[in-house]
Amino acid sequence: MDIEEKISKDFVRQIIEADTAAGKNDGRVQTRFPPEPNGYLHIGHAKAICLDFEIANEFAGQCYLRFDDTNPEKEDIEYVEAIKEDLRWLGYSWDGRLSYASDYFSKLYDLAIHLIREGKAYVDSLSSEEIRLLRGTLKDPGKNSPYRDRSTEENLALFAEMASGVFEEGEHVLRAKIDMTSPNINLRDPTLYRIRKVSHQRTGDKWCIYPMYDFAHTLSDALEGTTHSLCTLEFEDHRPLYEWFLENLPVANKPRQIEFSRLNLMFTVMSKRKLSQLVDEGYVEGWNDPRMPTLSGIRRRGYTAASIKDFIGRVGVTKKDNTIELGSLENCLREELNEIAPRRFAVLRPLKVIIENYPEDKEEWLDASNHPNRPELGTRQIPFCKELYIESDDFREDPPRKFRRLSPGVEVRLRYGYIIKCESVIKDKSGKVVQLHCTYDSATQSGTEQGQRKVKGTIHWVSARHAICRDLHLYDRLFVAPNPDKGDGDFKQYINPDSLEILKNSMLEPSLENAKPDERFQFERQGYFMIDSEASEQTVFNRTVTLRDSWAKIERQAITQSTKKS
Ligand code: ATP
Ligand code: MG
Repeated sequence: MDIEEKISKDFVRQIIEADTAAGKNDGRVQTRFPPEPNGYLHIGHAKAICLDFEIANEFAGQCYLRFDDTNPEKEDIEYVEAIKEDLRWLGYSWDGRLSYASDYFSKLYDLAIHLIREGKAYVDSLSSEEIRLLRGTLKDPGKNSPYRDRSTEENLALFAEMASGVFEEGEHVLRAKIDMTSPNINLRDPTLYRIRKVSHQRTGDKWCIYPMYDFAHTLSDALEGTTHSLCTLEFEDHRPLYEWFLENLPVANKPRQIEFSRLNLMFTVMSKRKLSQLVDEGYVEGWNDPRMPTLSGIRRRGYTAASIKDFIGRVGVTKKDNTIELGSLENCLREELNEIAPRRFAVLRPLKVIIENYPEDKEEWLDASNHPNRPELGTRQIPFCKELYIESDDFREDPPRKFRRLSPGVEVRLRYGYIIKCESVIKDKSGKVVQLHCTYDSATQSGTEQGQRKVKGTIHWVSARHAICRDLHLYDRLFVAPNPDKGDGDFKQYINPDSLEILKNSMLEPSLENAKPDERFQFERQGYFMIDSEASEQTVFNRTVTLRDSWAKIERQAITQSTKKS
């Protein structure tokens, strides 16, 4: 099933379908993805992106990429470029449909003047603290500012002076004149403009007043021709203000705001503010650290764009708040990688094996299949010789019952190779096993007719003489608590101290020497891996995901506990 089919019946699409059927906007559909360029995009954003861009496609409409850049202090061109790159990676384009709220600053200024002329906006000279005190609470209505009834002329003059830099920050703001007693706090004379004497990444020093988000966002939508303004639920209470702007300003196009629930994931945090704390305080390497839930992070880790879209499709679009198990995202990825990733051998924690009865200078190249159920992916050859590496934990000197791997006197099959038997164990001074001496049965080569003798276990291996040594980075959840946002106190106390394990001496089969940066592999029994794009000389592989979900049980328990509580 493709993403379109899976989510074709969600409520947002139903509304849009009804609107177009009723001939609204002459049947035209236009959406936009409107990030604030104040951080990198995360998986939550992918939900909004897929929704906005896919809907535009389905209704033969258009989707804009619009940067809502009204907050010059926090914004940066670095974020703009990173956001574009993430969108391209997801496979969306915005040819000719790239815009910035700052493109509309002059028009917004004129619209603010329009409101003043209509007696629907005024310059307030209270301090922000005083404004806050008069705003009231959810229970108590607010009170009018003493400046609320300034004359139009005075308001126009003051607003012009605000714009020309006469005043200092905080001396005045422009507010809409709506209703200080409204049960909806957003309608209690919201601020439209504030003075900020900072340069803007796009408009430089042209402005020293900047529009507030709600005003700029609504009117950018309207001016740009948006028909359906899709946003997350926290904007539901802002919708009356959104509509107030549309009713009270001379804009021909009146977009419809529709809210849907945010995507949240367990064992992670998803607000840009929190993610930027992790970056700034050095908990992670950067925004694209492979443990981060950012699109650049998971891309570097090896996630595919297709698996993200598949996941977003499965999550669907509703108004219900929910937190999805990280495991279900990983399963989408596993399903895809299982299909596409060629198999390889890599020994993560090597233990040397000497095959005593194998000739010193002999080597054989054995056929190994690249994929168990896709013969079209062919085979490769892997070298076999007297010295091999196997996984340390595939050997136990005192094996527990049912241990199906190697131990003294026991046989295992080397996958695609021979059956070997452990004859003796070499230890260092501390008693640690450092080498095994084995014998092989030359009549048991896999794939040959006489090689079919059965033994209990099969393990992977590499030739010690041919293997290449690489660093492997193994990742775990970045947080140990299922909902780090919702615990007591600082979310950073729940950071998993073991979220990154670096293996320095892993041994890989020699064909991996030629691995390309964007190639994904299954290292048999160990997970899916891809070269770390940030590593020099391509000597580091990131484990994208393990083969099985070792957290599933823990997540289930966490869910059961939290449903019991509520
Ligand atoms: P954050 O709170 O993570 O900083 P934001 O909402 O401030 O996110 P914006 O840059 O304003 O980030 O978001 C751009 C768009 O992405 C908005 O339409 C917003 O509703 C949507 N969005 C952000 N987070 C999520 C999420 N977790 N799930 C779905 N949509 C989201
Ligand atoms: Mg925001």
